[in-house]
Amino acid sequence: MSNNADILYQKNGTIYSVPVTVIEIQNGEAGYRKEQLMIENGNITGSQPVESSPEFFVTAGFINCHMHWLMTGSACSFEEMMETVAGKPEQAVEKAISYARSSLKLGITFGIDKGPPGYCGAPVYRGMMDAIAKGEPMTNTIFSTWAFMAPGSFGEPYARMIHSLKEMEIALLELEATGAGVSKFIPESPFLIDKKGYRFVFPGEWFQYARSAARQKNWVFAVHAKGTETLDQCIRVQADCVEHGVQASAEQLRAFQEKNIYLGPTLDGLLCRLEHSRETGQKLEETTYEWEAVCQMVGMASTLNDGRPFTHMLFASDAGSYVTPHASLRELYLMRKMGYEPASVFEAATVNGANCLKRNNMGTVKKGKKADLIFWFENPLELPLEEWEHLENYIAAVILDGNTVVVR
Ligand SMILES: [Zn+2]
Repeated sequence: MSNNADILYQKNGTIYSVPVTVIEIQNGEAGYRKEQLMIENGNITGSQPVESSPEFFVTAGFINCHMHWLMTGSACSFEEMMETVAGKPEQAVEKAISYARSSLKLGITFGIDKGPPGYCGAPVYRGMMDAIAKGEPMTNTIFSTWAFMAPGSFGEPYARMIHSLKEMEIALLELEATGAGVSKFIPESPFLIDKKGYRFVFPGEWFQYARSAARQKNWVFAVHAKGTETLDQCIRVQADCVEHGVQASAEQLRAFQEKNIYLGPTLDGLLCRLEHSRETGQKLEETTYEWEAVCQMVGMASTLNDGRPFTHMLFASDAGSYVTPHASLRELYLMRKMGYEPASVFEAATVNGANCLKRNNMGTVKKGKKADLIFWFENPLELPLEEWEHLENYIAAVILDGNTVVVR
């Protein structure tokens, strides 16, 4: 813990922030308020307007809607990662906590974990939750204890394999018992070079069942969907959180908006895989195709509504997955590079994440919200594109649950 005094101070039993310019983002537009925030028990309980020119700008903390705390972000194979997760769970907990600590320092106050390698991650997630409950300064999280797959799914068999509806019913009961907040499905084949596409491999009935179960249990229903067919299935069952979406059409994105479905493009993950392919020569055709397709999709999305962006974009980097490092804000830089305006990128990374999670106490800076905040040395929305390559240099402090966790 750093010294709180620079950013927060106590007066008559209430914690006040120093005067700040709060950046409020709505529908792609930024509004500014000069005020001092009042914080009690981890929440913003009020504010007082100020006349002076504040030193710091403040935004809500970032919500990364696609990450894997139990994966190392290296070129390590799934078997190797599973050996640690299954065989040395204490070591895996330590690693996961270290990733969540370093992610918090970049202002990522919440993360949605989309599953471990394999099906033996439950003790590691339990260890993370214990650390959070003890007040360890790390990114808060919900998780899918495993990802669900059917024969033919991408990544098979390194997840929870499902062979029948009965088996899925049981697996979902087990998911509930592990304290999951997400149910993650991979109902799609790997990339098919000859088709330049992907196949939906789940029986439609199972998919509908899984979706209904998530609604009943209040889980975020998250789906790996790169291809046209799977994206249509996500629209049909009204998924909450769709991943990658590399082949999403304008028509499909409009259907997402109508049905309140959020999309995380995982630009960082796809670029990391392309960079690795260029170094090693492996899977170059696939990674080149996916990178070009996702760039085109996000570019198209940036002007979807008569020049205004697709409204349901998320900050979703795929941190931890194959060759994709933890603790990075490159996803935000890439979204902006692909055409999203700075205010819309911040909206994706805060407001939209909270809406996707259906948590109305997160995502903005006002009375009644959690005091999960980023203090900035300069207005990040006014920084030129090049500076967004190291946006973290402009972070003065991060507040989690009303506590200062890092001050530069
Ligand atoms: Zn992933």
